[in-house]
Amino acid sequence: MATIKLYNTRSHKIEEFSPIDSRNKFVSMYTCGPTIYNTPHIGNYRAYIFADILRRMIESNGYNVKHIINLTDVDDKTIKKSIELGITLDELTKPYEQDFYNGRESLELLPANIYPRATNSIPKMIEIIELLIQKDFAYKTEDGSVYFKVSADKNYGILVNVDPNKIKENAGGRMNNDEYDNENIQDFALWKAWDVNDGENKWESPWGLGRPGWHIECSAMAEEFIGGTMDIHTGGIDNMFPHHENEIAQSECAYGHTFANFFVHCNHLMIDGKKMAKSDGNFLMLNDLKDHGIHPLSYKYFLYGTHYRSPANMTWDTLNSAQTTLMRMYEKFISIIDLKNTNINSGTIIAEDNAEDYIEKIKNVLANDLNTAEAIAFFIELFDDIEIPNEIKLITILEIDKILGLGFNKYYKLDKTIPSDIQKIIDERNIARENKDYTKSDELRESLNNKGYIVIDTKEKSIFAINPLDSA
Ligand SMILES: [Zn+2]
Repeated sequence: MATIKLYNTRSHKIEEFSPIDSRNKFVSMYTCGPTIYNTPHIGNYRAYIFADILRRMIESNGYNVKHIINLTDVDDKTIKKSIELGITLDELTKPYEQDFYNGRESLELLPANIYPRATNSIPKMIEIIELLIQKDFAYKTEDGSVYFKVSADKNYGILVNVDPNKIKENAGGRMNNDEYDNENIQDFALWKAWDVNDGENKWESPWGLGRPGWHIECSAMAEEFIGGTMDIHTGGIDNMFPHHENEIAQSECAYGHTFANFFVHCNHLMIDGKKMAKSDGNFLMLNDLKDHGIHPLSYKYFLYGTHYRSPANMTWDTLNSAQTTLMRMYEKFISIIDLKNTNINSGTIIAEDNAEDYIEKIKNVLANDLNTAEAIAFFIELFDDIEIPNEIKLITILEIDKILGLGFNKYYKLDKTIPSDIQKIIDERNIARENKDYTKSDELRESLNNKGYIVIDTKEKSIFAINPLDSA
């Protein structure tokens, strides 16, 4: 078992991780989930891919992780869009919830234990707000809204460096929007009194009809589904302020104990050196990748090449070369499967020392603040290690895939039906190979790859092809 080290945004340094309930090897983890008013873009998915590899790494060290990913189904954005479309919040959010699950599956992300919806936790939000009022960390305004009093919280700004003078300067000012920058720190809304723009979306509260602010939702769902101090809170760096800062303020002032021992944040996705923006036409969804012939797992593989705390700069070239590498790995993997005879019981490695070394090395570099790039380098090395017998290699790859989640487990269920146009290219390539025309054979392989097919040349010189995009 490796020593786990993670960069904790709370302390601004790398710390050794050990869970609160280490006796039972239990780890609680909360990830801020999607606002289900549209389809998540690939930048959003970076935060979920990161949370997933973090969880898999912890589990590979023998822990049980309880993972909560919440669904924001009520906030400024869901309300605005549902009213524009003349439908209820439920009607708006249900399809996008499903959309998120589909994305999760195509990226081989482990399902969370619970995906709570904010609207089911409103009583818990009211409970926290009442506690905050009692303890003088919050106050009601004339219209029936409730605000958090930032100046009363001495720890405010633990995640981001907040200038205390700014808090003093802005003291008494109030912020009704869910999102604002840290130059603009003011008291923020915990409960928003109903107004006509909210339509039918209103809930009873001790302060009259209204609805929660966004930040209180996560404090409430964390308390309801984890309770007490949690081990790890994750999210994208863009949620660090104000969202996570406000979650800490609310929960710690209400309950008087640490909200989360570790806050771990992953950095932005950049495209061609720029942040994604609708106006630049580089606002991409997983489906846009598929339209370009890029499997979601190739995107995940590409992300593993960059440390989670650095911005990942994606270009179509880097994505294509990530896909080529991953496809070659699939090809090698499938070529060592004896499709008829191998009955694989994963987890039963009869340790060939050097095979097990690979698993240990990968676990170790991941435990060291998630060095995914090094893990991938060891993984690639394993494929080309001729000292390891094929059946051992096969099982080792599957064991490592349980940690990296790159879809190797899918390739037992091979569908051998190949469309005729694809078969034509394969036949052409077989002829090229017979004629030792390797330039042509490489070109044809490339063309099959571009159509989403990977090619496996077996010992008997026959060719096999499958389409990984089919299962995405
Ligand atoms: Zn959150």
